[in-house]
Amino acid sequence: MFDLIIRRARFIDGSLNDVAVANGKIAALGEIKEQAAHEYDLAGRFYLSAGWIDSHVHCYPKSPIYHDEADCIGVATGVTTVVDAGSTGADDIDDFYQLTRSASTRVYALLNIARTGIVTQNELADMTQIDRVGIRDAVQRLPGFIIGIKARISSSVVGANGIRPLALAKTIQQENGGLPLMVHIGNNPPDLDEIADLLTSGDIITHCYNGKPNRILTPAGELRASVHRALQRDVRLDVGHGTASFSFEVARAAIAQGILPHTISSDIYCRNRLNGPVRSLAHVMSKFFSVGMTLPQIIDCVTVNAAQGLRLAQKGRLAVGFDADFTIFDLQHQSCSFIDSEGVTASGEKQLLPLAAVVAGRWFVTEEGKKQHVFDL
Ligand code: ZN
Ligand code: ZN
Repeated sequence: MFDLIIRRARFIDGSLNDVAVANGKIAALGEIKEQAAHEYDLAGRFYLSAGWIDSHVHCYPKSPIYHDEADCIGVATGVTTVVDAGSTGADDIDDFYQLTRSASTRVYALLNIARTGIVTQNELADMTQIDRVGIRDAVQRLPGFIIGIKARISSSVVGANGIRPLALAKTIQQENGGLPLMVHIGNNPPDLDEIADLLTSGDIITHCYNGKPNRILTPAGELRASVHRALQRDVRLDVGHGTASFSFEVARAAIAQGILPHTISSDIYCRNRLNGPVRSLAHVMSKFFSVGMTLPQIIDCVTVNAAQGLRLAQKGRLAVGFDADFTIFDLQHQSCSFIDSEGVTASGEKQLLPLAAVVAGRWFVTEEGKKQHVFDL
């Protein structure tokens, strides 16, 4: 017996399928003859994908600078899973864990290698902030919550320490079973070449299309040789749009050369959600139509690719046995205008509108879905 059946959902390949859920997992797919206690017929009107995963957010409610509520950036906008990228370190990670257990959105954390997390902008300017024992203990205390580590490696964060915090982050990664490492890039020093040369398979560069001088492209617009070598070693690119880290010019030039992101993430928090230029993960995803990506490519970046990069083995795919996390959305064809972190605008013709999020079989209508009254049963 199934708990829920969603009928005639449009998959990204255009096909119509029924999806059945039992005990929070996908129990059947295709044409389903059986019935369930709860059913909803999408009648082919809307898309359904695996639940969207935002690989880089900030949702520690007590953070003094980058705070938000998990559900405001999660199920309210069609995102079923959020990964907080280093808002907290070993000092506050337990508090963060407790505060997010009541959220409907799935919340995971990349532990900041600085024990304070992001309390000020320069958490790695003092090397004594990096407490290896504290990190190891935290990772062992919260293994299902801490899914990786985060190091912000740009001049304002590391001060005079240059590349040293990243070298230590690589050691810490090894000491903790080779967890995924996400590295924020920005202004130099250290130079991006120094950073890229230290990264190995599975490491994630976030803010990959930032428009600062220390960007992934050379002044001539070609991919830096160091980043090219890193990509050949299976280093991953994450968008991490944020307030100051996404340039249409860089994204367009990189994507034209085949340098696609592995993951599209928002780097969202309260202020850039309300005031822009981030707004929501869907809004960030929609910008990628304007820089040369297709719907399947964009959806892969927030589903299968995100799950793979962060090793969320039960997520990211529509397959029997996987978590019953879905995003139901519309693709609206209409002229729209977007703005990047550099204040540059781009026009688009398509916009993703998330209407509902389903987390382990539980249905949440988004703000947009409520406005459109499409799921008033
Ligand atoms: Zn960052
Ligand atoms: Zn961030």
